Amino acid sequence: METINSQKIFRAGEVIMRQGDIGECAYVIDDGQVEILIEKTNGLVQRVGTRGPGTIIGEMSLVDDEPRTATVKAVQDCKLIEISRGDFNRRLKSADPVIQMISQIILTRYRDMLTRAAIFKDPGTFPTPEDLERGFVEQTNAIETIKMANEFKTAMEKGELSLNYQPIIDLSTGRIEGFEALMRWIHPEKGFISPGVFIPVAEDSGLIIEASRWALRESCKALKRIESHSGKDGKMFMSVNFSSSDFAEESFLDHLYTILSETDVPATQVHLEITERLLMTQPDNAKDTLSLCRKAGLGISIDDFGTGYSSLSYLHYYPIDTLKVDQSFVRNMKKDKTAKELVKSIIALGHNMNMHTIAEGVEDAEEAAMLREMGCASAQGYYFAKPMPESDIGKLVMNWVAPAF
Ligand code: C2E
Ligand code: CA
Ligand code: CA
Repeated sequence: METINSQKIFRAGEVIMRQGDIGECAYVIDDGQVEILIEKTNGLVQRVGTRGPGTIIGEMSLVDDEPRTATVKAVQDCKLIEISRGDFNRRLKSADPVIQMISQIILTRYRDMLTRAAIFKDPGTFPTPEDLERGFVEQTNAIETIKMANEFKTAMEKGELSLNYQPIIDLSTGRIEGFEALMRWIHPEKGFISPGVFIPVAEDSGLIIEASRWALRESCKALKRIESHSGKDGKMFMSVNFSSSDFAEESFLDHLYTILSETDVPATQVHLEITERLLMTQPDNAKDTLSLCRKAGLGISIDDFGTGYSSLSYLHYYPIDTLKVDQSFVRNMKKDKTAKELVKSIIALGHNMNMHTIAEGVEDAEEAAMLREMGCASAQGYYFAKPMPESDIGKLVMNWVAPAF
């Protein structure tokens, strides 16, 4: 290690800090790449992550003088900026009191996070390397999640989000009766990012609220355009996915009504898709909001029905009008008798409760025919059409001939 202009230079392969040593400082990586290694109780060394420019290493020593929890080694030649505990404390003392307090809390919680596994196991014990490894993985995930949330925010601002629309088919006539709007994010460098990955990040960061409003507005506008191109005015619906946090937001209804009136789409042509989980986590909030939505004429669909909670009593409690049979049951229906019976039961339940049923994930003619025979009203899936951009939906609707089933 050498010091140039107050920067510490570590050559590739050099150890920057060693597990077990008492740490006196942290480093900000200005240039280069390091790896974080943890020696386990069995003597094996596990690589738990890497860090690059703009990240910090050894920061826990700024909070206390416990031994280093990992070894950090330069993978490339590295330029590091040292932050000593003394320096850090001095800076902290001269900071705004609110910043001081928040920094202390964050730092303490941060150590807690890394030692959580050990604390749960036996309060007061110091974490084993295995606990720390778990902690580091959590920390890496947390960093990735924060990064992705920031990127998602930028994506919204830069217009990197788009919507695909998947037709929903009336199984008795083969006609397209509506669409489900599905969000897409094409990242400029990473390319396609699955909604299964970015939706939870958007939910946790609260960004989903803005994203849902955007999706509702865009899909309503798209419905209008699809209708006017195809001459099928007022005959098709748009189903939009919502998350729990959308319902927790006080202004949810105001925004909803505003968007409907601005886009001139009748409430009866919009369906809100929500999951069972949402109803379980937001019981009171959801009930009032959903009742007002139903009164206004909106459709309420339960998405992924059958995968959430076993209690069916909530079906009476909420103003639901559609059950969407989860695709996992549909997928297994042909080979698995239980799955088939489950689908049958959900459809029967729908009939008994005067609800519409839509089967998801229909991938071939046999599944479509089975569902029709079971009395399922509608279906969506790759067999009929994949989710596609609005530009393709226009043509599809104009030339629609349902595949045979
Ligand atoms: P979901 O609401 O259950 O949406 C249906 C998913 O099944 C979509 O995945 C769709 O592309 C896929 N799918 C449709 N037909 C078939 C088929 O025949 N076979 C198979 N294997 N899959 C089929 P996608 O677009 O990846 O979305 C995944 C999930 O992300 C959605 O599941 C939904 O929970 C969430 N999501 C997507 N867009 C939004 C949104 O705008 N808001 C919210 N809150 N969630 C969204
Ligand atoms: Ca859905
Ligand atoms: Ca679903």
